[in-house]
Amino acid sequence: MLVIQNLYKQFGSLVAVNDFNLTVKLGETVVLMGPSGCGKSTTIRTINRLVEPSRGRVMLNGANILAMEPDELRDVRKRIGFVFQHFNLIGRLTTLENVMLGLVMGGTDRETAECKATEALTKVGLENHLAHRPDQLSGGQQQRVGIARALAYEPELMLWDEPTASLDPILVREVLVVMEELARYRASTMIVVTHELTFALRVADRIVLMDKGSIVEEGQPSEVFVKPVSDIGRQYQELIE
Ligand code: ADP
Ligand code: MG
Repeated sequence: MLVIQNLYKQFGSLVAVNDFNLTVKLGETVVLMGPSGCGKSTTIRTINRLVEPSRGRVMLNGANILAMEPDELRDVRKRIGFVFQHFNLIGRLTTLENVMLGLVMGGTDRETAECKATEALTKVGLENHLAHRPDQLSGGQQQRVGIARALAYEPELMLWDEPTASLDPILVREVLVVMEELARYRASTMIVVTHELTFALRVADRIVLMDKGSIVEEGQPSEVFVKPVSDIGRQYQELIE
């Protein structure tokens, strides 16, 4: 479904992503891990062109995202959900309105938008918080609104960039539970950047380890840390033992 080929991104003289290659199958959950600064965010941001790569190809269902005109790109972005570390909810809007906003701005009529938003919020367990404002919600609940906002589009691809990184440890679990359910249900194909090793081992179909802009290790959770060939792989292996 998604093919990333020879992806390369340079910021000035700094090489952030160096010949990154990845193929993701329909319905697959790929967890992308690696030390801070190794290029994870830059890599997944190129998929919907929040970052323009220096060179490479990103093919989604056979179409090269990097060659698309603005109109075509806008349509493709609607099919790609993105959940960030910081949820950026609008404080004066309710939970329901926060999820509806993007849909309405994208041309969906209010009634349909409300229906889709309610459904998405139900999927993340917030059906009883539709009228709450962000400051009346916990951090975990706020991030679940962020997830619902992405889900409301019924995206075929979901990109997650450290969705639990800014949450108190106690609130991390409720977000991981929602993510795990989405992965199990295979509602969409997912690429998840996270440092949550237990989550990765439980939920990933494939774990990809990056270091210094490149993939250094890749495999199923049951095998990837068994005989690591990279320093990073060995460091993760020690964390598991
Ligand atoms: P990660 O998400 O794995 O922590 P990033 O993809 O954010 O890593 O960053 C990879 C490298 O690129 C880092 O050295 C970072 O400082 C650099 N970088 C990221 N974004 C920019 C930018 N917009 N301008 C300059 N350097 C950047
Ligand atoms: Mg990052």
